[in-house]
Parts: sequence; C-alpha cells; structure tokens
Amino acid sequence: MVWESSSQRQPTSTVDFDMERGVQFRYQSIRTPRARAILQVQHELLRTCRQFLDRVGFTEVLAPIIGPVTDPGIRGADIIEVPFYGKAYVLMTSMILYKQMTMASFPRVYAFSPNVRLEPSISSTTGRHLAEFYQLDLEVAHGTCDEVMALGDTLLSEAIITVRHACAEQLELLGRTLPLPPRQLPRITHAIAIELLTELGFELDPTAEIPWEAEHHLSLHLETPFWITDYPTTARGFYYLRDPGYPEYVRSMDLILPEGFGEISSGGEREYTVEGVTQRMLQTGEDPTKYAWYLDMLQEGIPPSAGFGIGLERLTRYLCGVPHIWECSPFPKVPGVT
Ligand code: AMP
Ligand code: MG
Repeated sequence: MVWESSSQRQPTSTVDFDMERGVQFRYQSIRTPRARAILQVQHELLRTCRQFLDRVGFTEVLAPIIGPVTDPGIRGADIIEVPFYGKAYVLMTSMILYKQMTMASFPRVYAFSPNVRLEPSISSTTGRHLAEFYQLDLEVAHGTCDEVMALGDTLLSEAIITVRHACAEQLELLGRTLPLPPRQLPRITHAIAIELLTELGFELDPTAEIPWEAEHHLSLHLETPFWITDYPTTARGFYYLRDPGYPEYVRSMDLILPEGFGEISSGGEREYTVEGVTQRMLQTGEDPTKYAWYLDMLQEGIPPSAGFGIGLERLTRYLCGVPHIWECSPFPKVPGVT
C-alpha cells in the first residue's frame, strides 16, 4: 500500500477484491481508488437528493432504527429482534409505518433510513442484495401515485445529471458511461409486465410479485428506467391502498432500472383507515393486535399519503455500473457473508 502524500491520504492500491475478500477485509478494499470513486459518487447522490427535496418543500426527519413493529412484507427475509427493556423490539426493515406517522405533522417528509433484513444467503449471488442498506424514504400527505412518480422522475434525472457532471473523473475510472434518462419515465402496468415476460418465456403467477430472475430479464429488455404500476392486491403489503374501483389492485408501483440492474424503488398510496388496514392485515396473515399503536394512530387520524423508498446502494450501483452491490456500501453486510 502506498500513499500519494501524507496530507491528502490518497490511496493508490490497485488490488482487485472479490466479494468475499472485499467484505471481510473492508479496511483494505476501502483504500482502493475504485472504492473511493464509488463512495464519492454516493456522496454526490446523497447531496443531490437532499438539495432537491429541500428545494421542493420536504422536511428531513431522522429515521427510527428499532421499534415495536416493522414492515413485515419483505419477501422471504427474516426480521431481527432486539431486547428493549423487557420487550421484544425489532430492527427496521423499512420505516413505512413510522413515515405515515410523520404525515400527522408535516406535508412532505423524507429520511435516509437504515434497514436490516436477513435475506437468504443465496441472494448474495444476485448482485443487488445487502443485509443492511439505506433507503431514501419520502412521503407526501394527500399525494397520489402520479405525483410521487413525477417526483421520482425528476429526482433520478437530477441525480444522473449531477453525477455525470460532478463525478466525471470517477465515472471514467469505473469505466461507466451513464445514459441520461427521459425526463418522464415510461410506465407499464403489472399486467403488461407479466405479458412481456410470458413472451420472454417465463411462466408467472399474475397475482404475485415478479420474481427477481424474471424482473432481471425485463430490466435487460427495456432501454430506460421505467415504472411498473397497478400491482395485484395479493402481491403487496397491507399498507398499500386498494383501488376503490378495482379492489383487486393496489395503488402501488416499482421503479425498475435498465441493463439488468432491476428494482430500485417501491411505493404507492397508503391505506390510512383502521378498517381498511385491519382488513388487509387479516388478508395478508398479519395479527392486528401486534400493531396496536399503529391502529391507535390511524384511529386518531392521519392524512392519506403516497410515497416511495429508493435503495441508495442499489442506485449507487447503477450510477457506477458496478456488478455487485457490496462495493456500494462503506461497511457492507452481504447475506451469508460473515
Ligand atoms: P421493498 O420494501 O422490499 O420494496 O424495498 C424498497 C427498496 O429498498 C427496494 O426497491 C430496493 O431499492 C431497496 N432494497 C430492498 N431490499 C434490499 C436489499 N436486500 N439490499 C439492498 N437494497 C434493498
Ligand atoms: Mg419492492
């Protein structure tokens, strides 16, 4: 290891690290120009998100790390319990329930929220699963899917434009040519996505989430980032609002990146009445008594809202064109790698 100068602490090591060694010996892999370039792009991303959201009237809140309950709809991952003064609390898998609480006080809220999910070890091979990651979570009181998708379009454009400009050197070092997305991203419904995937040879359950292998292919197939909208109710968590006209669908969407990078965001409009949420909890096999404070909060009244969460390491991965997401966290935790 050679340092360019003692005052600037510029690492010049060019050693390549595979995932296992890079994670286990992070104190070495973080010294490489490549790691530094990726984390600088991430810094620029965080700065752009903050600047943009502050400019359009959002209030930043500090996200919870633990709580009595968290988002149960996390597709096969386990939740970690932590003892808390005689009670069993959990680490946040997403701050959705708490984000809804902020709507009682602020019209537009965002947070950089830490999440821990014990994903199955096999997901370390997808290149896009960490066991600890951050989301940029945002929520708009009285918002609609259309409104927050438009915000997502602008946020993604601004992030890409800024990173191309401010991190040209880093992108060159990473060998990344980052295309500009259209100002308004295309939208397809979940039903159309299933049709396209069926044409590509997949046999899929039209009432379920799209499995990641299939979504990966869709992501390779389409040329720009795009939204998938109108998810079947059976495919989504209890906090998504059923379409009043078509209750078999929820007002919910995902943002999918091209080039095989796949999903970076899920969001939608929220159920916000005790009756609606309790019904959906029972449908999804959740015990409403576990969520007593949440249901009490809804009883007291919160505004309807819409929002989404973007995985920040996943977005960094796309911006940098990096094959595996471990490189996009300064302190990576990869499922199954200890
Ligand atoms: P979800 O609540 O599962 O839809 O997650 C919201 C967003 O968080 C996803 O769209 C991803 O960008 C990100 N995300 C979810 N799970 C992971 C994970 N295991 N590793 C990294 N990012 C994740
Ligand atoms: Mg999702």
